[in-house]
Amino acid sequence: MDRLERETFDLVLIGGGISGAGIAHEAARRGLSVALLEAADFAAGTSSRSSKLIHGGLRYLALGDVALVRETALERKEIFRIAPHLAEPRWMVLPTRNRATLMKFRVGITAYEKLGAVESADLHRNWSGDELARELPLLDRSKWKFACAYREYLTDDARLVLANLRGAAGMGAAVLNYAPVTALLLEGGRAGGVLARCSPSGRELRVRGRCVVNAAGPWVEAVRRLEQPEVPDWLHLSKGIHVSLPRQRLPVEHLVMMQTLDKRIIFAVPRGEVTYLGTTDTSYAHGASEWPEIAVEDVEYLLEPVARYFACESPRPEEVIGAWAGLRPLVAQPGKGPTEISRKDEIVRGPSDVVSIAGGKLTGYRPIAWNVLAVVSEVLGRRLAEPERDEPLPGGDFDGDLDRLAAEIAPGHDLTAEQARPLARLYGTEAARVLALGAEPLVAGARLRAGEVDWAVTEEGALSLEDVLYRRNRAALWAPAAAREAVVPVARRMASLLGWDDARSSVEIDAVRARMEADLAFRTPA
Ligand code: FAD
Repeated sequence: MDRLERETFDLVLIGGGISGAGIAHEAARRGLSVALLEAADFAAGTSSRSSKLIHGGLRYLALGDVALVRETALERKEIFRIAPHLAEPRWMVLPTRNRATLMKFRVGITAYEKLGAVESADLHRNWSGDELARELPLLDRSKWKFACAYREYLTDDARLVLANLRGAAGMGAAVLNYAPVTALLLEGGRAGGVLARCSPSGRELRVRGRCVVNAAGPWVEAVRRLEQPEVPDWLHLSKGIHVSLPRQRLPVEHLVMMQTLDKRIIFAVPRGEVTYLGTTDTSYAHGASEWPEIAVEDVEYLLEPVARYFACESPRPEEVIGAWAGLRPLVAQPGKGPTEISRKDEIVRGPSDVVSIAGGKLTGYRPIAWNVLAVVSEVLGRRLAEPERDEPLPGGDFDGDLDRLAAEIAPGHDLTAEQARPLARLYGTEAARVLALGAEPLVAGARLRAGEVDWAVTEEGALSLEDVLYRRNRAALWAPAAAREAVVPVARRMASLLGWDDARSSVEIDAVRARMEADLAFRTPA
């Protein structure tokens, strides 16, 4: 923390979501000295609430946004290359009722594959008859006789943020969570840094920098108003929710696309012990919020297509075991609703030279960072060095064969390859170091290992139970029942690492349990 006050950084970044983390990493690769301040936990905003797809956005092709689709479709391969554990290739299945519709979709998918330079082994395939029955046995084949399966990548949004931040820190960046920026340091009409408050200690920090970048996501306007109180509205916030069902309630092996009654596309995604459904896309006029509320109508909207696509009964909201909501910080386009607004990013240089970024997608975080750095270079008045090689992100230094990585890690820790696989998926090649801190399960029969808590605290800046269970090992999302059981054992382990007394532990336990209940509050309407 002292270093943050001592140095004058080239770049001071506000916001530790994927935009801030990606800019920090790309800036550090170019030799800039970087400080990043995050108001809550890293990835606590939109970047832990996405659908977790690294995708080119097939639907934006239909909207004519070819450049955006090309850029993001190509990025999928690059993210797989630098962080294969955080980009899992999966089949996305698009069921159709007849061959004519199938052919129509194939035209779009073929264009998409060309734009994304998809390898021949990964080109789409068509399923019908016995093959469809084998690949997607639960599909109601009396209605859905054909399907096209094409490649998309599944990521872990919060861990992608952490990987970028750790990569940046490894190159010298200073990153701090729980440190909201409260004011700009203005010198001669220019922003020369920020004032932040470290919430755990209450200490005020003056962090000086030659360029300030505002990557505060849904809060970007609030930060812009520190520079220019009268600045007009910029964003159109759109709320998106996801709900998860127990995996056995919707046992699918692939990602499945479904159309809602209002003709939007939502996905069913099997992951860990759940299959999640999402997402909604509705205007949100209440201002930025860390925990937007989940209404039972939103939940019903996502559950509705299930019985139209699958040979099963319609799930009821009471059967939902997990849910999350996030806000898309879209750049407003007058007259357009949330589904029609382009996901393109926009960068603004303010009157005191603060560079603000809004819009964009998780998938395009690197091109967004490059565009921001082009403006940073203008503010700094110097050309930035071109990085020599695209090094893998921490944990990403392997060839993408996760099964082999799991098989290599397992024997040293008395695990089977199957037990090691989820750890390899979360931590990549660093899984061995995580397990060296404690391979024993924290809850009998559950996947969560003791070393994951230590790693989260010592290497990834976790300070609360919520940080660990929601954004480090993701147990709250992919194994909600085990996460509930793990609350007390994780608290005990964190207490010894962070010196919590009994009172502090109780506060933490109550807080995370309240959070878990609040996620599912829609199940018990007032
Ligand atoms: P955020 O992640 O919100 O980060 C901003 C950070 O700034 C926050 O952590 C906040 O706490 C911090 N902050 C705010 N004020 C201050 C302050 N004063 N001082 C310090 N810090 C501050 N994209 C995809 O590519 N694929 C998908 O599948 C996908 N699905 C999505 C589904 C949903 C429901 C939503 C909502 C979005 C989805 N997106 C997806 C889009 C993607 O998630 C967002 O574009 C991206 O996460 C935005 O990241 P960000 O860093 O700009 O914002």
